[in-house]
Amino acid sequence: MRTFCIANQKGGVGKTTTTVNLAAGLAQLGQRVLLVDLDPQGNATMGSGIDKRALPLSVYDVLLESASVAEARQRSPSGGFDVLGANRDLAGAEVELVALERRNERLRDALAAASADHDFVLIDCPPSLSLLTLNGLCSANGVFVPMQCEYFALEGLSDLVNTIKQVHANLNRHLIIIGLLRVMFDPRITLQQQVSDQLSKHFGEKVFNTIIPRNVRLAEAPSYGQPGLVFDPSSKGAQAYLEFAREMLTRLGPERAGESPAAI
Ligand code: ADP
Ligand code: MG
Repeated sequence: MRTFCIANQKGGVGKTTTTVNLAAGLAQLGQRVLLVDLDPQGNATMGSGIDKRALPLSVYDVLLESASVAEARQRSPSGGFDVLGANRDLAGAEVELVALERRNERLRDALAAASADHDFVLIDCPPSLSLLTLNGLCSANGVFVPMQCEYFALEGLSDLVNTIKQVHANLNRHLIIIGLLRVMFDPRITLQQQVSDQLSKHFGEKVFNTIIPRNVRLAEAPSYGQPGLVFDPSSKGAQAYLEFAREMLTRLGPERAGESPAAI
């Protein structure tokens, strides 16, 4: 089982869209995927076709150890992957966790118990560097950072990189940044092209080759409770996410070990 966080403390940068569509893409490529929604907004849950208001059990119950992953997960009806859903209850977990033992490692422990069931776990992180995000980072082998190619895109990145370095040093020595994913890309905008080139120059191999274009079908899909990949498989956005899933499988190859996040 390999576990990845999709993280960026900025909101609206495409974390949830990336998580849901990568989950669907990996599932289409024959992988057994569990999506973990760690955002109390529950957008990844809804976007996977599961009603966040009607969850019998959620990631909240798992974090508080009142349910196992196997008990709380549900199948995305159209996506072909499992979902550990979230809703507003999760906002309370933040406060409740503070007082508990192993508060950073709760998700990791719970996922470990279900590790035989999934090839990939993808964790959709909230737009903050909170205790929930820490639980995600402590559980993960690596981080994907979706980014828009805008002028200030790099500014927020240093906070995330510092957090990842700290988690690497203190809590999870397996954690590395797998790569930066350029999303919502519009090649007609010169500035986006320039920032994209700068990213490649600066971060080299850590930038995924696949670029996700701005594509309205990806934005429409969640209101139908479907991943974009299912909603309109022939759309440019869906094709790009499927390509990204392929790139990820090729790039990861055998288990990586011993890499340091200092590379970024
Ligand atoms: P985050 O999880 O980082 O807050 P989202 O994935 O929810 O970001 O994306 C923010 C908004 O942008 C959503 O309305 C989503 O539908 C839209 N969006 C995301 N990716 C794309 C894309 N490639 N093309 C068009 N719209 C997109
Ligand atoms: Mg989100």
